[in-house]
Amino acid sequence: MLDTDFFRRWMTAAAASVDREAEHLTALDSPIGDADHGSNLQRGFRAVTAVLEEEAPGTPGAVLMLAGRRLVSTVGGASGPLYGTLLRRAGKALGDSGEVSAEQLAEALRTGVEAVRALGGAAPGDKTMIDALVPAVDALRDSFAAARTAAEEGALATTPLRARKGRASYLGERSIGHQDPGATSAALLVGALAEAAGE
Ligand code: ADP
Ligand code: MG
Repeated sequence: MLDTDFFRRWMTAAAASVDREAEHLTALDSPIGDADHGSNLQRGFRAVTAVLEEEAPGTPGAVLMLAGRRLVSTVGGASGPLYGTLLRRAGKALGDSGEVSAEQLAEALRTGVEAVRALGGAAPGDKTMIDALVPAVDALRDSFAAARTAAEEGALATTPLRARKGRASYLGERSIGHQDPGATSAALLVGALAEAAGE
């Protein structure tokens, strides 16, 4: 079973990973965006770590809902509301139990990803974070490590795609040949989940 501390470790690991990769994420957002994805998420996840320490939420669901709210209020850009929605909706789906199973988490994240799709209107293949999140949620049936691999592969597979959503879509054909920054950060988030699970 996954307890509150597991979810706290997930968010801390995500913040550390975003810190390490912030420059890379911003560099990816430079040719097909406005070069702010790394700094946006760095600001957001630092704020998440801080608020989790301050408020010490007592359930897995409360950790994710608080983290999601904090991302919405600090990240800005397209990715803030989208990642905020992912975590808030997943947290809400977990309800108020003190411990959840890996299956419940997989189901909750599926709900969260559906909410991201509803909010942003992106489908798989549109060269967005969805291209990492959808395969990750599918692979969560197997293991956290499988989800990380699926997310990383999904992010790499965005390179030849033409962007159909977000800022990169303004570039049309010229978005082809660049890896999507949001799919790349989504893979970091899923990687942090595997790290929290010790996989
Ligand atoms: P902005 O584009 O506002 O500067 P960021 O740079 O923080 O925001 O985030 C860009 C990332 O957000 C993109 O790489 C993409 O993965 C994701 N994104 C943008 N629009 C959408 C959307 N409609 N649905 C899903 N993801 C999106
Ligand atoms: Mg940007």
